[in-house]
Amino acid sequence: MAENVTIIGSGPAGLTAALYTARANLNPLLISGNEFGGQIALTNEVENYPGFPDGITGPELTELMKQQAEKFGARFESDHVSRVDLQTHPFVLETENGARHETNSVVIATGASPRRLGVPGEIELTGRGVSYCATCDGFFFRGKKVAVIGGGDSALQEGLFLTRFAAQVYVVHRRNQLRAQPILQARAQENPKINFVWDSVVQDIQGDGAVSALNLVHVRTGDPSQLPVEGVFVYIGHIPNTQLFVGQLDMDDEGYLKVNERLHTKIPGVFAAGEAHDHIFKQAIVSAGFGSMAAMEVEKFLADLEHSGYPTAGKIFA
Ligand SMILES: Cc1cc2nc3c(=O)[nH]c(=O)nc-3n(C[C@H](O)[C@H](O)[C@H](O)COP(=O)(O)OP(=O)(O)OC[C@H]3O[C@@H](n4cnc5c(N)ncnc54)[C@H](O)[C@@H]3O)c2cc1C
Repeated sequence: MAENVTIIGSGPAGLTAALYTARANLNPLLISGNEFGGQIALTNEVENYPGFPDGITGPELTELMKQQAEKFGARFESDHVSRVDLQTHPFVLETENGARHETNSVVIATGASPRRLGVPGEIELTGRGVSYCATCDGFFFRGKKVAVIGGGDSALQEGLFLTRFAAQVYVVHRRNQLRAQPILQARAQENPKINFVWDSVVQDIQGDGAVSALNLVHVRTGDPSQLPVEGVFVYIGHIPNTQLFVGQLDMDDEGYLKVNERLHTKIPGVFAAGEAHDHIFKQAIVSAGFGSMAAMEVEKFLADLEHSGYPTAGKIFA
């Protein structure tokens, strides 16, 4: 028997879609992916999610979201979707653990993954000093010098977190001004453990079994320099996790799914929510909002499906 709705991904978008579809009595199935909680579970400091005046950690926030969805009947499977067939209805989803699900509707909440620097040494030294998650790995750098690459909110937020452990945090940015919110910029500039390395890009990461230094190049003068550090935390943006849907759904040049204002993809019954399509706002609250919107559209789609059958192209999407 086909599921009513299957949600792919367990970040704020997927968890909120699970809550709303569960409260609509749709008995949703959520396939969580390899990273339960998504990107927000990578941070220790969430200060801007409404309802938590003292802040909350990302893992706590997503665990609470899960509990809330479960309370209303959402089911969770710890698995990763490896293949989808959206050309037949019910749609078919296959997973890494060998499960096969038929489903009448899908919410794609697969979010995004950290962009890599793409320099020599990065892959070889990942887990040996190169990290994309200060919350996970910051503790290992107690009393050490580390670098954070990037100039946006995540770079500064995580750089500030790292000052709890590290002796020194260098923020290496390719421009001479930051993109981060002013409140984070002010905190970083006031913090005696943070030093900025402006107008610089990483050429390669040095280390024999563990990171020992970064080779940098000044973007204007071309002058090389070396920064001795034992940790490198990379926050230079994200790539949407939409490769699964190539050839089946429309996406832009960067891989973000194309949706209409009601989050419908071009296939009736397939919706997208969160950073799989949102390349502008990239905040947990925004993804959660998209999750609720997609869930409400699922509800309407399933009601129409029950009364009128699967629509011909354009009938629901229009
Ligand atoms: C370090 C850091 C700090 C941040 N701090 C804040 C903050 O303080 N406040 C804030 O509002 N935002 C913050 N953000 C941004 C916030 O985390 C994101 O906007 C939000 O997590 C996006 O939610 P999402 O549900 O759209 O996608 P994601 O969080 O990216 O979740 C995607 C989910 O999909 C799953 N998935 C992917 N592919 C598959 C597949 N094939 N099968 C099954 N599952 C799959 C993944 O495992 C994951 O569970 C931060 C981000 C980072 C990286």
